[in-house]
Amino acid sequence: MLSHEEHIKLLLKNYYEKAELILPDDLYVREIALQPVDSENYIRHLSFPSIHELRSFITKKIPRHLYYSSARYQEPANPSMDEKKWMGSDLIFDIDANDLLQCKESENIIQFKFCKNCGYISFNLDEKNCPNCNSMLNKFEHVDPYCIELSKDYVKKLMDIIERDFGFNNYEVVFSGHRGFHIIVNLPIEYKFMTAEERREIVSYIRIEENDIKAIISELTNYDKIKHYISLPPQLIDGGLRRRIAIEIAKRCNNKAIHNFVMGLTQTINYHEVREFYKDLLNIIYEIVKEISIPIDTKVTMDITHLIRVPNSINGKTGWIAHAIKNRDLENFHLEPSMLSPFNNIKMRIKMLIDIPNIKVIDKNFKYKKNEELIIDASYATYFIFKGLAKIIDIKN
Ligand SMILES: [Zn+2]
Repeated sequence: MLSHEEHIKLLLKNYYEKAELILPDDLYVREIALQPVDSENYIRHLSFPSIHELRSFITKKIPRHLYYSSARYQEPANPSMDEKKWMGSDLIFDIDANDLLQCKESENIIQFKFCKNCGYISFNLDEKNCPNCNSMLNKFEHVDPYCIELSKDYVKKLMDIIERDFGFNNYEVVFSGHRGFHIIVNLPIEYKFMTAEERREIVSYIRIEENDIKAIISELTNYDKIKHYISLPPQLIDGGLRRRIAIEIAKRCNNKAIHNFVMGLTQTINYHEVREFYKDLLNIIYEIVKEISIPIDTKVTMDITHLIRVPNSINGKTGWIAHAIKNRDLENFHLEPSMLSPFNNIKMRIKMLIDIPNIKVIDKNFKYKKNEELIIDASYATYFIFKGLAKIIDIKN
């Protein structure tokens, strides 16, 4: 009989022997980093000439998490960041479902601290040690699948910006294997050297900060009483923010004349019609801005030395694949066992280490008591196992 740890190692090893990892063509100038499955520490500053050498390494030092650098370096294996000699970076975006306004601080997110040793649970997230056995507490965080589905809308909007506003077409969209999506843009050479500060400008254009919102509203709705000046409604053929706003107005506007103008079907519009429309617009502008503001992670995009989770590697927080979405076809990507888990055809007998509250994992609801044993599909089982809530007793192929 294999132990819990041996089972996990074997599963991951078997996966990495054949895994179709998606790696950049210039792998040899990237830093590789990983956390071995049996260690708390990361191994950094690795470098491999090709996927064959990488595969041979990771089937011996089996990773819980596997990354490559968004940066290209002359000396990727040099342990000193200053001496690696930076040669530009990909542009990275990260959208996490728990950052969505609709999900943040809602019942769709469950968080608590727990003790693996005795099963103690605390909803006080500041608590560090177990009052029963003094073990270090672990944090559990669960995002309802509904929020992940919802974040797809923001990924689509971001893809539209990347292609239409920035003109970048060479990029991958990847489900993180946990609760969000990554976009990896292989920039044209002249943009690879964008600094962190320059990347911050991109972030603020995508996120739209408070001041921008005020500026947009005042630009659109300011009415000059003396000159009878009023600005035209944004149109789909406009660039930048005006186009992003026009898309949302087109979805909501009932006034045919305004709608046609916004869509670009007509090029003239009645002055009074626009004034009336702006009165209505004031009621919905915040809703519109909320729709066009995309909650990307600022730090990730600004970080020119970011470590990217390798697409199609396994996310050690869930045991699910960081699934590279084929042809960036988000419409056909859904949280499904067959899509998420490389161990989809396997059943696992697991034992719960704590009381599990009612949570939805992929498409099924779970609620279990501490020490309860159950036999379930590996796609669900690995979620509990990799989050530290359960132990593997046995695996049935
Ligand atoms: Zn304890």
